[in-house]
Amino acid sequence: GKQGGTADSEENRPLWQKCRKGFLFPKYVKKEKKIMIITLKDGSTKEYSAPMTVLEIAKDISEGLARATTAGEMDGEVVDLRHRVDRDCSLSILTASDPEGLAAYRHTTSHILAQAVKRLYPQAKLAIGPSIADGFYYDIDIEGGFTPEDLEKLEGEMKKIVKENLEITRFTKPREEAIALMKERQEPYKVELIEDLPEGAEISFYQQGEFIDLCAGPHLMSTKPVKAFKLTSLAGAYWRGDEHNKMLTRIYGTAFPKKAELDEYLTMMEEAKKRDHRKLGKELGLFMMHEAGPGFPFFLPKGMILKNTLLDYWHELHERNGYQEISTPIILNRSLWETSGHWDHYKNNMYTTVIDEQDYAIKPMNCPGGVLVYQSEPRSYRDLPLRMGELGLVHRHEKSGQLHGLMRVRCFTQDDAHIFMTPEQIKDEIKGVVKLIDQVYSLFGFEYHVELSTRPEDSMGSDEDWELATDALRGALDDLGLSYAVNEGDGAFYGPKIDFHLQDSIGRTWQCGTIQLDFQLPLRFGLEYTGADGEKHRPIMIHRVAFGSIERFIGILIEHFAGAFPTWLAPVQVKVLPISEKFLDYGEKVLAELKKAGIRAELDVRSEKIGYKIREAQSLKIPYMLVVGAKEEEQSLVAVRSRFKGDEGQSSLAGFTEAIQKEIASKEIKKVEIEEK
Ligand code: ZN
Repeated sequence: GKQGGTADSEENRPLWQKCRKGFLFPKYVKKEKKIMIITLKDGSTKEYSAPMTVLEIAKDISEGLARATTAGEMDGEVVDLRHRVDRDCSLSILTASDPEGLAAYRHTTSHILAQAVKRLYPQAKLAIGPSIADGFYYDIDIEGGFTPEDLEKLEGEMKKIVKENLEITRFTKPREEAIALMKERQEPYKVELIEDLPEGAEISFYQQGEFIDLCAGPHLMSTKPVKAFKLTSLAGAYWRGDEHNKMLTRIYGTAFPKKAELDEYLTMMEEAKKRDHRKLGKELGLFMMHEAGPGFPFFLPKGMILKNTLLDYWHELHERNGYQEISTPIILNRSLWETSGHWDHYKNNMYTTVIDEQDYAIKPMNCPGGVLVYQSEPRSYRDLPLRMGELGLVHRHEKSGQLHGLMRVRCFTQDDAHIFMTPEQIKDEIKGVVKLIDQVYSLFGFEYHVELSTRPEDSMGSDEDWELATDALRGALDDLGLSYAVNEGDGAFYGPKIDFHLQDSIGRTWQCGTIQLDFQLPLRFGLEYTGADGEKHRPIMIHRVAFGSIERFIGILIEHFAGAFPTWLAPVQVKVLPISEKFLDYGEKVLAELKKAGIRAELDVRSEKIGYKIREAQSLKIPYMLVVGAKEEEQSLVAVRSRFKGDEGQSSLAGFTEAIQKEIASKEIKKVEIEEK
């Protein structure tokens, strides 16, 4: 279906599909064996002579676990606590500490919200209410929508429902009866959902008190364990994410098993709001968006300084690591994209055009261009590994509802590189890339974790190639002593990959760097090199990015530093502030000296009060202010105020210049020692 309406309609798509599948009543396998053996998470086993529900098994393990459990995971599939286990299987008893267990907890909270809505606003119609990454939402059709005051009222009603300790029960109905039930309860959206399910399907419902919801589950056993929740915001969302449908009101909320965890989350969200890169980007004059090009960012002068400073660093880093830089065209013809496979597999995300009656595409990725450069001359094993970097501007069609500042755009600069190599070189090359990415993240003070994704089911290529590639990635990570999580079956169809998830200063994680091994593109393009044996061989390719998208990375940096960039990155490093107009000439002199030393400085020439000028420079998060008045002019000094320490006293201009040059060259992140006013 079409997407649109809200920033995270993407989140609801997979859940939506999952939900629909889940409506089907699971078919139980008739038990034949007398004894059933359950293998628990810790490897221990339990034997039972009759079927048991997940909850009963939890109780058998311990009462404490039975109180904490929110769902089960049977042979890798999440199941309800009421699910009858009737065969040998592996079973994890999930609690709110497990992601899937927390999802069940939050989904129950979303039902409590829906129940509160129906109690206070009986005329409201319910759409869908899944759990999402940070909580849950419920889409509701109600005349006039809700106000923040309504949310408070709803929270109050939810607390009552929790206190009532309503038992939650599950029942199923054949499709026709399910439709009748939802018609009787005047829930047209639920009717539509059920009508989309196949004839003969068994439909599951959950009931708590007077409230019944169409739902695949899983859910808690009662409303009581839901202790800490909060309705966080309101948004509009089209029914089924389709802008041709009615706009519904979406209530977002979150829930945690402990009040302290909820409080910590809410504090983090407050902080995130203050740091929102769209707000700071405007205040600091970094970038703008315009309706003339939704999703296509404009960089303003200060933002361009920031971007170019990052790119200077990128160039220096890649030069040092043996990369050569190339630049390939933005528009290339259809036959190239057919050879690369993009025309068949990626066309929905590509912008296309016609030149001289021939089809062309605007590149969504840089790889095919890089491959053409490789092919432009005969290659020998002596040329390998060949590392070709490209700051490539790519365009991808994203649905308008998914666009979000610089974080999700329709055109961005990938800090791409393609490495062509022999099979023996894979491991060392991977290690080199991992080290390079580590340098980048460490420079900005990011911690990160690594995930290795292995062969998916619908993959291309031989078992041998996959084994070689996966072993090389694993071996490189092991050699470097990096711990990593493994996502079985999550690799690209053409090869396994390593992803880097960095953590920002307020604890959020962002996926940025990726290393992908690829056997397929060299095959599709028939790439070759001459080996030491004089024979033709096929090189292997690495695709990798460190920043990911430069634009998105800038968005992350803005939020990570809350706009207070380290001095080397700050668009304005020094602001010269004359106490009055009398000292403008001396200010000019100071400015000229700073500029000569390569420092990005500005002079505040306005006849405002000095206190006002200082406050403004502070709000623009400028690292250093040099205040100049009579005393400074007489003795050729500057009075230094920094973002880090406040008043740092007087200094000779030469002394200050030397110190800041050193700080810039080292790319130091200085600690703030004073509270910002
Ligand atoms: Zn690539």
